Amino acid sequence: MAHLLESKNIVTQIKNRLLDVRKQFDNITLVSLKIAADEATEVYVQAQKKWADSLGIEYRLKEFSPDTSFNSALQEIERLNQDRNVNGIIIHKPLPSDWDEVALFENIDVQKDIEGLNPHNLGRIFLKKPLFLPPTVLSVIRLIKAADYDLRGKNALIVGFSAILGKPLSIILADKLATVSIAHIGTYEAGKLCFYVQGADILITAVGKPHLIKGEWIKPKAMVIDVGISKVDNKLIGDVEFEQAYARASFITPVPGGVGTLTVACLFDNLLRAVGIQEGKI
Ligand code: NAD
Repeated sequence: MAHLLESKNIVTQIKNRLLDVRKQFDNITLVSLKIAADEATEVYVQAQKKWADSLGIEYRLKEFSPDTSFNSALQEIERLNQDRNVNGIIIHKPLPSDWDEVALFENIDVQKDIEGLNPHNLGRIFLKKPLFLPPTVLSVIRLIKAADYDLRGKNALIVGFSAILGKPLSIILADKLATVSIAHIGTYEAGKLCFYVQGADILITAVGKPHLIKGEWIKPKAMVIDVGISKVDNKLIGDVEFEQAYARASFITPVPGGVGTLTVACLFDNLLRAVGIQEGKI
């Protein structure tokens, strides 16, 4: 049976450290840009507000109207970049389908880009010199560290290849000398998902399809980190069939209570780091 890799203790440690670091600075402001109405975004916004309040940080939610133009969003980002009182900028997805997402993230000042999605910040990961890691990536790395898991020489499988998770994480795990495989919709369509999961010493999955990964596929004693979140019958469910995987794995993260809870803590860890960089203390 697996150890349950919950994040609550790591979250408490981060909170205590940030409360301490926070004392070094005066006002801190995080601006959160919301373009489209979305149920998941609402959940993230509430969690972020709660964290900001607990750390004495101003959380400014800027909601655009549905007919906002791409150029006016760019202008707003430019204004926030220039505003010395703004320390961090985040942009909630989804974005209108005809917007150039990369151009938007590219325009966030690299030192205020606490989601690490400016191409400059993503590129630095390739060079082992990240300024900010995307909070979900940071969250996965912290969970691996909390389990004291040595990646060197291990078979790591990442299911899901998005810019916020699978792509940057694959580079980081390879830098830590794991042998990394990446699976995605193409792997699934080719009927090879089971094959790759069966060979994984450590499995990280970020798809958003409930119980896509069958428990019986999990390699005995593997570590399982489930990033996926789906809502079924008003309950949050991960990508992995939990009970069956729990019986085989050495470590497994719960959903909820695993990656998601830690991600918001990592966002604020990045924000405090951003303030330190902006004030020349890092
Ligand atoms: P995305 O849509 O950008 O990427 C999904 C990936 O899954 C793609 O690479 C796609 O090829 C792959 N995929 C789709 N169907 C597949 C299948 N049947 N088999 C194998 N691969 C398949 O999504 P995203 O933004 O990376 O989010 C993925 C999941 O992670 C979602 O459930 C999201 O809610 C969750 N998420 C959680 C956190 C957190 O903090 N826990 C943060 C971000 C995202």
